[in-house]
Amino acid sequence: MNAPATAAPLVPPAPRSAGNFVIEAHGLTKVYGAQRALSNVSVQVPPGTIGLLGPNGAGKSTFIKCLLNLETPTAGTAQVLGVDIRARNRASREKVGYSPEQDCHIAGMAGCEYVTYCGQLAGMPFRKARQRTHEILDLVGMGQERYRLVDTYSTGMKQRVKLAQALVHDPEIVFLDEPTNGLDPSGREHILQLVGSLWRDLGISVVMCSHLLRDIERVCDRVMIIGHGRLLEHDSIVGLKSRHRRIVEIAPAGETERFQAALTGAGRTVVKLSNGKLRVESASDSIEWVLELMRDQHLPPAEIVANPDALHELFIQSIAADHG
Ligand code: ADP
Repeated sequence: MNAPATAAPLVPPAPRSAGNFVIEAHGLTKVYGAQRALSNVSVQVPPGTIGLLGPNGAGKSTFIKCLLNLETPTAGTAQVLGVDIRARNRASREKVGYSPEQDCHIAGMAGCEYVTYCGQLAGMPFRKARQRTHEILDLVGMGQERYRLVDTYSTGMKQRVKLAQALVHDPEIVFLDEPTNGLDPSGREHILQLVGSLWRDLGISVVMCSHLLRDIERVCDRVMIIGHGRLLEHDSIVGLKSRHRRIVEIAPAGETERFQAALTGAGRTVVKLSNGKLRVESASDSIEWVLELMRDQHLPPAEIVANPDALHELFIQSIAADHG
């Protein structure tokens, strides 16, 4: 498996987009019949590698499609790279790449023909598109298969060619919808490395949709968590983890109700999670106060976890919101 053909510079390149935010949405809403796929999403996203995390059906693809004017929002406004794509559709497409979740190749075309054609559709002259196609197919790790019909490709090769068509015209931002779907571990690793290098080495902002927390954590510096069409969180991954740092989870071996009452009696706000654990905020990183309370109140033993994995917890909440 080829590694991405770019070397990491010591400092990240300056963002190519002039504005402070690559995405701005205000009250973005999309309703399909009785289904509210996206509900009043307002967000301002700076350049970088942004993960769009949420379970299947949460509204991630709908969000992207509304941003790219592939769906018309029911309400709200959206800008990509400071421009409302509805107003300047063609000019915006030259700066934006999109790799949809579904196959998007054209039957009967070889990989390199297809990617060249996509470059032309984005406004490149044929010769430049063809030259750039070969560079980008090298980058995504595609060899002689590029001369074969895309219809004959494996899932991994289709993912690569999808990524290549999103990058061929050298966009400022790419939207990648579930780019690792259907890949084996080495294929996934290669694509994730490549996605991570787009911002780091080339200054291309990335919005990567995934229902896989580990993929987002692996390559993204920010995350938007979406559940049931609503934006649940948006922050840098570091910021989000530190905001949730002082949380303690307690799994009592028994007498959960008495445990809960003791914590409430001690002035703590207690949330009982669906898995039976009790979650409380802690004033410090220490769990000594919990142990003291257990001793004083003769509570049964308990498993105590300080600072549970914030991203994982938020992701679980987004799934719960989906069923809520
Ligand atoms: P995700 O990308 O997070 O998996 P989607 O944005 O694809 O979620 O879908 C969000 C919700 O909107 C789902 O319940 C889905 O069934 C519904 N939905 C998406 N597209 C359409 C459509 N064209 N018509 C009707 N419902 C849709």
